[in-house]
Amino acid sequence: MGEPKKKNLWEFLRYGLGFYRNPPYIEDQLREADVRSAAYLTAVVCLVEIAMILRYIRNWVLPGKVASVGEFFHYTYAYWWLLGSALLILIYGVLYMKGKLGRLRRISSVLIFLYFSFAIYFGITTAMHDFSRGRMIICFLTMLMYVTVICVWRPFSSVAIIGGVGFLFVWLLNNRTFDKAGNRLSLSEGDFINYITFLIILCILVIAVYFQRYRDAKKSWELEKISVTDDLTGIPNMHKFDEDSKAYMDKSRAEGKYPVYLVFDLANFQTYNDRFDYNGGDELLVEMGNVIVSAFPGEPAARQFGDIFSVLTNAEDYRERAARVREQIRAAHPTETYLDVKVGAYRTKETTRDARHAVDRARHALKQLHSREDEFFLEYGERMSSDYSLKQYVLNHVDEAVREGYIKVYYQPVMWAEDETLAGCEALARWIDPKFGFLSPGLFIPTLEEGRQIHKLDLCIYDAVCRQIRECIDRGLPVLPTSMNFSQLDFELMDAVSELEKIVEKYEIPKEYLHVEITESAITRDVAGLKSAVARLHSEGSGRYAVWLDDFGSGYSSMNVLKDFDFDLLKIDMEFLKNFHNNPSSRKIISCIIHLADDLNMRTLCEGVETREAVDFLREAGCGRLQGYYYGKPMPYEDILAKIRDGTYKLRKAPRPADRDA
Ligand code: C2E
Ligand code: MG
Ligand code: MG
Repeated sequence: MGEPKKKNLWEFLRYGLGFYRNPPYIEDQLREADVRSAAYLTAVVCLVEIAMILRYIRNWVLPGKVASVGEFFHYTYAYWWLLGSALLILIYGVLYMKGKLGRLRRISSVLIFLYFSFAIYFGITTAMHDFSRGRMIICFLTMLMYVTVICVWRPFSSVAIIGGVGFLFVWLLNNRTFDKAGNRLSLSEGDFINYITFLIILCILVIAVYFQRYRDAKKSWELEKISVTDDLTGIPNMHKFDEDSKAYMDKSRAEGKYPVYLVFDLANFQTYNDRFDYNGGDELLVEMGNVIVSAFPGEPAARQFGDIFSVLTNAEDYRERAARVREQIRAAHPTETYLDVKVGAYRTKETTRDARHAVDRARHALKQLHSREDEFFLEYGERMSSDYSLKQYVLNHVDEAVREGYIKVYYQPVMWAEDETLAGCEALARWIDPKFGFLSPGLFIPTLEEGRQIHKLDLCIYDAVCRQIRECIDRGLPVLPTSMNFSQLDFELMDAVSELEKIVEKYEIPKEYLHVEITESAITRDVAGLKSAVARLHSEGSGRYAVWLDDFGSGYSSMNVLKDFDFDLLKIDMEFLKNFHNNPSSRKIISCIIHLADDLNMRTLCEGVETREAVDFLREAGCGRLQGYYYGKPMPYEDILAKIRDGTYKLRKAPRPADRDA
């Protein structure tokens, strides 16, 4: 499609004369340009014809030279014809440009051709009449110019039309015009040469206009193509997908159908990229795009980004088709056994607002699949829907929850292993929502981390903890050293150390009352940034925060973390105690960790202590502090104070030097 390359004379002529097929978009643009010209031109024609009719009325009707209405129309019928037809084309052109014609758009060429023939007929007959009276043939030339403006068709058709009509006119002048005496008239040689020159210039002008329009149309076609196509795979991009899916949804709903959104993901694409380089990865993405498009022909399909593709379909067998895509990709790469295709699906409902919304839900289903090795397809379901809505709720309401005090701090006691007196407590966030009630930190903490809003909650917790300590100091109540959880993202999303300093200064809290817990699994991200944050926590301002490593042993980089960071205390992950009763290795591992920490001059705390047996073992093994349900679940600070009062929790009379965390 498109014009041929201009390699030789023949190709040059083909191109110059316009013997090639244009893409429909370019044809549309050219046709629209013709219709637009026709509308402008016919607007002028309407004005001219109205002026001609008024002129006739002024010169003939008003002076009483016209005897009847019949006579009036007899002499002005050509004006009325031209006015009527021009008006018709004008209305058609306006509706065409406003896009209100539907299928009638297709008859534009026929209409323009009819109008063209009529105008040329008028031009020829009037000019022949004038010529036979010794006047100029200017009316024909004007009409020819008029109509060529609206038929800027291919060069060959313009040349054929202008040439054909031009020669027909000359033939008629020379053979069919007579003076009053009946003598045949003919064009003088000089006029003939001028006339031919005029026709040639007209052809050149029309061809120049055609190529100008053609280039504009092609440029906008290319721009259009770029804006709707994914650079890499050549299949539509999400912009186009959004547009197509709107129309697709409207059509489906009119037919009572609810299409399904599918989101495809190449599992372990990163590994493939590492093995085959980015070029190899790119080729796989192109292949994936093609396989998906051919599995769902004629339906909206696009690459979202990276290795994620979207499809919208009414096909009943969408699962089977998705399975075929997966099989095809796996069959094409038999040695890459890790490579897989996972598909999340979402069936739209009456309430589905737009494509993005539905794609998000299908992606949510896809995410669930990542933890299910043996499955490749999951459709978004009702249970998932409430889970998803709750996450959206958390993200949208965190500011309100902080402002309105829905975020509460619960404190879990921490005991000295040696004598089981109270060593301090851990501050844990609770969200008590007026609408949903008690929300689990297992839900809102990861959700806020994913949505990069965790710092809002953490700032609120630091403030509440410091306020609580201040109140205890002022009222002479027991003050418990409290550990607070820091997310790795806190250090990215704000200057966490300075923010904490500000709050500590505001409430004038001695730093030995505060410990900072950083989860081990978070450390893999920005090691350098975190190292400097830990150093600042140790050295900034007066005093020193103890920095604790939380959940030690739950991640993959435990040993490196110990080597690289200067932690004061190691919190042994509760997983080690889970099967502590029937797995002798657990005991050995816990003992080893405690010794290792001792050697590195770090204190130890074991989480998840639930039984007396665990307490005894840990004390024997030399663990410094214990935390777990055996001593108490997280609770409001007043409850801890009440338990101190009723003797459930005991405080040491005077802390020994070894109790100090610094
Ligand atoms: P974590 O810091 O490791 O906190 C310990 C979690 O274990 C708490 O769960 C606690 O209730 C639970 N736990 C304590 N003892 C036992 C036990 O004997 N058995 C069992 N099965 N569980 C026990 P929670 O409060 O649900 O918190 C979960 C996680 O959420 C925390 O783990 C922490 O990583 C995060 N988190 C909690 N509050 C905050 C916060 O304010 N900020 C940040 N960034 N994260 C927080
Ligand atoms: Mg913690
Ligand atoms: Mg922990």
